[in-house]
Amino acid sequence: MKDLFEKLYQKKFEDFVLLLEKNLKEDKKAFIVTANPETFMIAEKEAEFAKLILDKETIIVPDGVGIVKAAHILHYPVVERITGIDLSWELLRMGNENKKSIYLLGASEEVKEKMVDKIRNDYPDLTLKGAVNGFGQNKDEEFDKIKEAKPDIILVALGIPAQEKLIYKHLKDFDKGIFIGVGGSFDVISGTKKRAPKVFQKFGIEWLYRLIKEPKRIKRFYNSNVKFIFKVKKMKRVR
Ligand code: UDP
Repeated sequence: MKDLFEKLYQKKFEDFVLLLEKNLKEDKKAFIVTANPETFMIAEKEAEFAKLILDKETIIVPDGVGIVKAAHILHYPVVERITGIDLSWELLRMGNENKKSIYLLGASEEVKEKMVDKIRNDYPDLTLKGAVNGFGQNKDEEFDKIKEAKPDIILVALGIPAQEKLIYKHLKDFDKGIFIGVGGSFDVISGTKKRAPKVFQKFGIEWLYRLIKEPKRIKRFYNSNVKFIFKVKKMKRVR
């Protein structure tokens, strides 16, 4: 897990946004993984997933508060959270300002349609090259369509690790594009679900809000976050 911590992006959110905007303007390719404890725990279990994160083309940013805290405990110089939801908003903004194009893959049909409306209404200079819900049978076929469309920004909202695996599988076939797996971000941006109130965000307990709103997440939370804390404590003792 040490190698994952070492690879974490270490600057501020605003620095990362500038880097992304530079990549976007210069038509460079980028793949961003937003990490929470679950990301690290899956990478521990699945070599294929670890490989995808450790690939030199992948940028990994600290999304969850658990990752930021653990990095601090282990003395890795991570500054702050860089969340998938905040990056999604920034990508919409910069895509619009730079008159770029976007493709959406993921979430329910209803949420996806609301995202389409939102982009058409609020981001008129951002060209929507395609949008498809995340419940179709053949996602590889969908990705073949994305290849033909050659969008500048590709948001994939299928949840971890499916979104990252799918992107990584096809990444080599693209010459440009900012690729990012954004989890439940479409649900929030479309207005279907609310993000945790600011006070939860401020005190680093956004995860608690999600657990209260969606108690079925508790098992998933235990399997990733609680086990992650024990793992980090053990790493601290070894250091
Ligand atoms: N989703 C999807 N296809 C699936 C399973 C999930 O499109 O087969 C979507 C789901 O509708 C939601 C997102 O993937 O919009 C996952 O959200 P979740 O909040 O679980 O992700 P997290 O942010 O926790 O990784």
